[in-house]
Amino acid sequence: MDLGIGGKRAIVCAASRGLGKGCAMALAGEGVDLVINARGAEALEATAEEIRTTHGVSVTAIAADITSAEGRAAVLDAAGDVDILVNNAGGPPPGMWSDWTRDDFIKALDANMLTPIAMMQAVVPGMMDRGWGRVVNITSQSVKAPIPVLGLSNSARTGLTGFVAGTSRQVANRGVVINNLLPGIHATDRAISLDQGVAKSEGISVEEAKMKREASIPAGRYGTIEEFGAACAFLCSQHAGFIVGQNVLLDGGATNATI
Ligand code: NAP
Repeated sequence: MDLGIGGKRAIVCAASRGLGKGCAMALAGEGVDLVINARGAEALEATAEEIRTTHGVSVTAIAADITSAEGRAAVLDAAGDVDILVNNAGGPPPGMWSDWTRDDFIKALDANMLTPIAMMQAVVPGMMDRGWGRVVNITSQSVKAPIPVLGLSNSARTGLTGFVAGTSRQVANRGVVINNLLPGIHATDRAISLDQGVAKSEGISVEEAKMKREASIPAGRYGTIEEFGAACAFLCSQHAGFIVGQNVLLDGGATNATI
């Protein structure tokens, strides 16, 4: 299927590895020119070069913390007018509901709610003026079904989800569609670090923790960043213009719910 987005321009935040990289690769595979971002310059440039070599698109790498105002300004300055925005950042650490302080919540809200909102506020008006735009926010399965140790994520991402629910319906008539992609467990560094946390707290090996988690997923495995990227590219495509304000769960069936 031709997604019809060749020659468009995208920002993909937090994209040197993991799900962000999967999205950047998939968009590049459709001929989209990219501005990608992460904090670590070396890994980011390596990913940029891998994407250029694989897909022959233009890739600008901006090493910056996307949760800071300066980092966002650097990415937005480099990008100029864009057609597509993929919002992403690192997830908050696991912990216990009774331990988190106000500062912990502010940090999580900054990274996983206020940063994607600021990025949308910066680029969506231009998309509306030009009559076309796509925004995908990488959130989490935890929006549909809370993950007890990830209460900071449960809270911050639900706030973003509410913002998207309202805003997406105010901009759709100008050709801009905003949706959220909700990853269940995917084979990335984040998954390894979550498995390490379970291994430590349950006194089992990391491999045992992974096998235990895989057994809880109807698909019997972790998702891949390629599958995730393909879903993202579709939501950024010409064909997705009637998909507005949705929360698309990619979790191998792990969330046991009828809808
Ligand atoms: P990952 O493999 O750890 O990759 C995170 C990427 O984001 C890296 O490129 C990292 O590079 C970049 N990054 C992190 N913080 C950043 C910041 N402040 N500014 C700019 N770039 C930043 O993580 P992932 O598994 O792809 O997860 C992506 C998001 O999906 C996270 O929010 C995570 O909580 C969520 N999620 C993941 C899963 C899963 O199973 N993987 C499930 C549910 C939700 P630098 O460190 O160099 O900045």
